[in-house]
Amino acid sequence: MDWENGTWIFTIPLFIIGAVFGSFFNVVGLRVPKGESIVAPRSSCGSCKKQLSAVDLLPILGWFIRRGRCHYCGVSLSPVYLLGELAGGLLFAALPFLVSPRELWIAYPLVSVLLILTVSDLKYMLLPNKIIYPAMLLFVALRLILHPLPLWQYAAGFVIGGGALLSVSVVAVWMGKPAMGFGDIRLMALVGLVMGLKLVLLCVFLSALLGSVIGLALIASGRLDRKSPMPYGPFIAFGCLVCFFFGDRLLNWYVDLIVW
Ligand SMILES: [Zn+2]
Repeated sequence: MDWENGTWIFTIPLFIIGAVFGSFFNVVGLRVPKGESIVAPRSSCGSCKKQLSAVDLLPILGWFIRRGRCHYCGVSLSPVYLLGELAGGLLFAALPFLVSPRELWIAYPLVSVLLILTVSDLKYMLLPNKIIYPAMLLFVALRLILHPLPLWQYAAGFVIGGGALLSVSVVAVWMGKPAMGFGDIRLMALVGLVMGLKLVLLCVFLSALLGSVIGLALIASGRLDRKSPMPYGPFIAFGCLVCFFFGDRLLNWYVDLIVW
């Protein structure tokens, strides 16, 4: 989409809606792994347990008004809250410019699921089945209706995406290195189901590359112990979005590069 057909009119409303959803995804990502209800009770400060007021609950603005601290006890709040709201706002606003109108039906649920899983993995190192299994069912239904590629591509993406990570995990265990969890394997299978075989392979490659670079940087700077595990879900989520938005262009560029 472009300037002419007026997509820009929706950008600010979509940003606000995305930030509100981002705030809700934070709650889902933080509560579902603990088996808590996502509707009640209202959010409270993790330190002093006081219920948050309307101002604190304002997406993005609330964080800046309170300068990232609890209004009652002054404890610093995790920047994950702010980042989740910003990511929700930016992605919701950007999607109409990044994918075709029909693929928006896939893009909005995909971004939502990935944001929830990223929050949960960063906080608990856990990608809950309670989120991944319903998401698999949802995307099977959506892909049966909307499939720019032949259906077998998505089925193959599911099996081979999950299989690729399973093999890496088996090799890592065999070499005595920290391995990926089953959650990561399930998430990559989900990514394959959504994007098809070609793009899930690119996602396996991109997320591994990104995970190694950032992992090595964290170890070199002393922020991460060589032996300690690192949540891998956020790298899969990031790789998935890059592939979903730009994967075909990346692959064409690469093919041009090696052919000439
Ligand atoms: Zn507090």
